[in-house]
Amino acid sequence: MARPVMGVYQELLMVLFTIYNLGIGRHTVVSMPVESVRIDGNIILGGLFPVHENGINGCGTFDLGGYQRLEAMVYALEKINNDQELLPGINIGALILDTCSRETYALEQTMEFVTSTMTRIDLNAFTCPNGSTPDYEPPQPTIGVVGAAGSPVSTMVANILRLFKIPQVSYASTSPELSDKSRYDYFLRVVPPDTYQAQAMLDIVTALGWKYVSTVASAGNYGEDGISAFRNLTRFSNDTGLCLAPSEVIPRDANKEFFDKLVVYLLNTEHARGVVTFASETDMRSLFAAVRRANRSDHFIWIGSDDWGTKPNPVEGQETVAEGAITLLPARIPDKGFDEYFTSLTPSNGSSEVWFREFWERTFHCVFDETKIEGPNKNKLCTGLESISAAKYEQEGKISFVTDAVYSFAHALHTMQADLCNGTSGLCQELLRIDGKQLLDYLKNVSFQGSSGTVRFNKDGDRPGSYQLYQYQRRGSEYRYEPIGTWQDKLRLNWSHVNWGDSRTDGIPMSVCALPCDISKGLKRQKSPADECCWVCSSCEPYQYLVNEWECKNCTEGERPDKNRTGCQEIPVEYLTWDSPWAVPPTLLAVIGIACTTFVIAVFVRYNNTPVIRASGRELCYVLLFGILATYFAVFTLIAKPTTLTCCLRRIMLGLSVVISYSALYTKTNRVYRIFNSGKRSVRRPKYTSPKSQMVICFGLVSVQLVAAALWLAIDPPRPAKTFPFWYQVILECAVTDMSLVLSLVYAMVLIVMCTLYAFKTRKMPENFNEAKFIAFAMYTTCVVWIAFIPIYIGTSSTDYKIQQTLLCLCFIVSATVTLGCIFVPKIYIVLFAPQKNKKPSGTMMMNSRMMRSTCGSIEGKPNGEMKAQNLNAGATPVSNTTSSDFESRTPEEEATRF
Ligand code: GLU
Repeated sequence: MARPVMGVYQELLMVLFTIYNLGIGRHTVVSMPVESVRIDGNIILGGLFPVHENGINGCGTFDLGGYQRLEAMVYALEKINNDQELLPGINIGALILDTCSRETYALEQTMEFVTSTMTRIDLNAFTCPNGSTPDYEPPQPTIGVVGAAGSPVSTMVANILRLFKIPQVSYASTSPELSDKSRYDYFLRVVPPDTYQAQAMLDIVTALGWKYVSTVASAGNYGEDGISAFRNLTRFSNDTGLCLAPSEVIPRDANKEFFDKLVVYLLNTEHARGVVTFASETDMRSLFAAVRRANRSDHFIWIGSDDWGTKPNPVEGQETVAEGAITLLPARIPDKGFDEYFTSLTPSNGSSEVWFREFWERTFHCVFDETKIEGPNKNKLCTGLESISAAKYEQEGKISFVTDAVYSFAHALHTMQADLCNGTSGLCQELLRIDGKQLLDYLKNVSFQGSSGTVRFNKDGDRPGSYQLYQYQRRGSEYRYEPIGTWQDKLRLNWSHVNWGDSRTDGIPMSVCALPCDISKGLKRQKSPADECCWVCSSCEPYQYLVNEWECKNCTEGERPDKNRTGCQEIPVEYLTWDSPWAVPPTLLAVIGIACTTFVIAVFVRYNNTPVIRASGRELCYVLLFGILATYFAVFTLIAKPTTLTCCLRRIMLGLSVVISYSALYTKTNRVYRIFNSGKRSVRRPKYTSPKSQMVICFGLVSVQLVAAALWLAIDPPRPAKTFPFWYQVILECAVTDMSLVLSLVYAMVLIVMCTLYAFKTRKMPENFNEAKFIAFAMYTTCVVWIAFIPIYIGTSSTDYKIQQTLLCLCFIVSATVTLGCIFVPKIYIVLFAPQKNKKPSGTMMMNSRMMRSTCGSIEGKPNGEMKAQNLNAGATPVSNTTSSDFESRTPEEEATRF
């Protein structure tokens, strides 16, 4: 069914025609005189050729290929007219017009074909006054038209020709729309429709392994219908896995800016290098120029339709942009006879005065008109002796189809003549009044061997699809279209002839929407909702592996993704080792501490009965030394690999060692305090100050911790356990909660606090070489260390576990060392380096000595409480070789400075 728009067309054409026929059009509507090639004959065949390109406001530059086609018609007619077998006695003439590849212009030109039909007058209706019939020679009708080239032009022309029943045979129009016989019933063509070309293009794209291509079409039914055929085929063939970028249409009036934007758009999908084009040669030329301006000459690989074919025009001067392009042309055998005919043409024997001269000027870059020599171009003068064959002549791709189109008319007329003229040769009356409908029927039934194979039209007036494939390649310093294969129902590519150019040596250039995501870098594909071939790469979390290229999954706790990110592997378990830089310093310090403590114990044992040792309260001192030693050993349990045994030892020793030390110190300071305090009030000695009771108190204090530790071990048996502070780290630690650890140390802390309290209270006691002062100092330091330790320990909990462990070790080492240093170094010093002070004093001194021993916990006599208090208040230093007056006059501070 005809579209409603057809009615509008027809009315428009009729109005146009009426104006034209009245003669007004010749001066107003059609302002230019009609340029044409006219060849005399008994029957006139019309011809429409793109002698000029489509210009901005009319006809553009001369189209060398279009002109060759025109000459091909002239050549074919010459051949037919000279043929004794085909149409003997009949000469076919021609009226050939330029379409300028422009629908509107072609429409105006077509009026020339229909004039004769419209002005046909029935002479029988007129008689001259003398009774004779009028002497009137009607214009020769155009019985059929060869052309046009571009589908939009053919479509436009077909609309008017069908009105006047003029059959049309196109040599180049391939739009699928023209197969619609309900609308283009007088249209036939010797080229296949683009549905085949689209299939051939899809097969090429598939063979190249491209997954994503852009498409570009010229506005109009050739470009838009061709691309939509390609897109439809792609959509319905599931096995190609091909996706398409949105189609870009080049409007008729596209300017430079449009092409620049188009290139930017095409470059947006950076890896989609393949571009399928159904565009006119002029559009392709402008597109290539824009690509060149964008400096991306070697980026795209083009698949070009037959309008580009093997024409030099689109690629001239921009060869690098087109290099590697694969183009298609309907299959044909170049006509050798035409080559001979065309190359023998000269300005003197050329078929058309005006166009041939223009052709000559364009081909040889010269001018015939002397006046045009002056000017910016400084053209040379044409001599007319230039040779076409020497001017890089190459037969245009559709020459064979032009001759075939002309021949199809000849064959149709031949059969028609035979049928209508009752066996007579030459023209007969019946043939003079050719009925277009009848001729169309004959045309539809022709079958002959043409240059493009057997010419036979199917029910849609088309030829079957058969194509030759070319690749635009560089050969030395030249570029040319190299045949690389054929397509007839299926693709046959000659891969050995395929060459992508010097800059693309690594195989077939690929065309994809996105590159595969690097799985080993943990990148997964994230689909674009719009296009299934497109994705962005997004990273999985570092603790995830890729189940497939689209999905990340968490590794289980204690596992990390393997190298290829395709699975998980166990994370090696970490624990502090003896050779770790975090373990070596505390170990060394602990060893030194143990050595020192052992030395002190040895000295104590060796000088067990000397006054200084005796006066220091040996039992508690031994307990204290044992506590210090245990503290140093506790450091090893912290560094050792966590096992059930080491965890058990760690639990016991950490708290216990501290508790032993500070229980002893507490007992000591508490006793001094009690004695001192009771001395102020009464002369009676306070209870539980004997060494025995001291030991009992001390062990009583220690046993609290022992019981607590035993309970803890029973309730929550020690065991090593893996912890996962970070996803990438597995640490073997003793399973202990921070809370229970703190609780285990709470008692030790309480003791430390108590100890500090009593040390502070007794800090000025001069007894036993100002021992109280040193104890106080040791306790302050211990408090500072532990107070500083807690926030640091908590603060570093989020960092490396080794730092924490080392800090804890150092804390223990420091508190043990401080105690050892402050309490035992002064004594050891006297014992080893000041033996004169380590003598039994006499008289008052002796008494003082006794008193002092009693304050340190080892009372051998029963001193007078009053005197003791008095002496203590005086701050005397009893074991000394100073005189009693010396002794009495010194303050405790002064005494302290003596060590
Ligand atoms: N096939 C093109 C079309 O239908 C014309 C190609 C040509 O003129 O070479 O518009």
